[in-house]
Amino acid sequence: AEQIRVAIAGHGNLGRGVEAAIAKNPDMRLVGIYTRRSPEHLKPRDAVTPVHAMSALPDHTDRIDVLILCGGSKDDLPRQGPELAALFNTVDSFDTHARIPEYFTAVDAPARANRRTALISAGWDPGMFSINRIVGEALLPDGATYTFWGDGLSQGHSDAVRRVPGVAGAVQYTRPVKEAVDRVRSASRPTLTTREKHRRECFVVLEEGADAEQVHNAIVTMPHYFDEYDTTVNFISAEDLARDHQAMVHGGFVIRSGNTSKENAQVIEYGLKLGSNPEFTASVLVAYARAVHRLNAMGQYGAMTVFDVAPGLLSPKSPAQLRAEQL
Ligand code: NAP
Repeated sequence: AEQIRVAIAGHGNLGRGVEAAIAKNPDMRLVGIYTRRSPEHLKPRDAVTPVHAMSALPDHTDRIDVLILCGGSKDDLPRQGPELAALFNTVDSFDTHARIPEYFTAVDAPARANRRTALISAGWDPGMFSINRIVGEALLPDGATYTFWGDGLSQGHSDAVRRVPGVAGAVQYTRPVKEAVDRVRSASRPTLTTREKHRRECFVVLEEGADAEQVHNAIVTMPHYFDEYDTTVNFISAEDLARDHQAMVHGGFVIRSGNTSKENAQVIEYGLKLGSNPEFTASVLVAYARAVHRLNAMGQYGAMTVFDVAPGLLSPKSPAQLRAEQL
């Protein structure tokens, strides 16, 4: 069969992850990387994939079956998503949960008008976690859903710590509180506060002459980011930060705890332990690129989410092979 021709729009952590993911999927071929920066300075992983200016995309519509959008959710995708969904079948990882409904509408109209298929908000949260939340709720209507994140590096919280005066460098990890996870797993359906579910741990490099106690207090009392959590602050050297805290680890669990009768409790759990958040997210996007390619060939146009895609479409195997081997 013909390989699916995939291209990448935006070459950050996620874009590099998509390069790695395509290399693991022989039914796909990476045909190009598109960037807003000067293409000649950008190094693809394999050193042979052509790199183009983002502005070349309108002229390349017949070279690309699916374009994977790897821009940031805050500033890039709200503009790039609707624009590019008019020209290509797309997959993205838009993760500003509160804005997903308006983003869906903004992408749906241009995609539909141009007979393109645009899968928005894939990845793990939103994405695989979302699927597990709706499946859990549908299978166990009498129940409660719990999402725990971590252990994981939070980009937003790390940035917030770096903005504190006196901080030269920092990372922040979100960690689920073990007692809370155990209570949820025991099917007792506890009501948990923000503080009871997660704690936050910071590793901070101080600027020369900065006051450790002042920095500590500024962090733990920071509204929205830290004041509702138990936060630990560890002061470390710049060398330790560079050596031990570069991996973008993440993960978490979605747990549905419910009752099918008064006597019988049921617990469903889906968990992820990710050595690299962007590489895993990229792997999800690439599997959905395969589904999008098929859905478009089937005449299904417009914006979609992971809720609308049948799981068999993610697999390179045929429906008959899947029935024989995996059912
Ligand atoms: P990132 O590294 O900041 O890259 C975002 C964009 O910034 C790139 O597409 C790139 O565009 C530009 N860029 C990258 N490095 C640059 C540099 N050194 N200088 C200037 N510009 C640079 O972000 P990311 O880690 O790839 O994450 C992208 C998005 O993925 C996040 O915003 C998040 O919303 C989403 N995400 C979703 C999930 C999920 O589960 N759904 C999980 C993880 C992440 P150009 O090449 O065009 O310049």
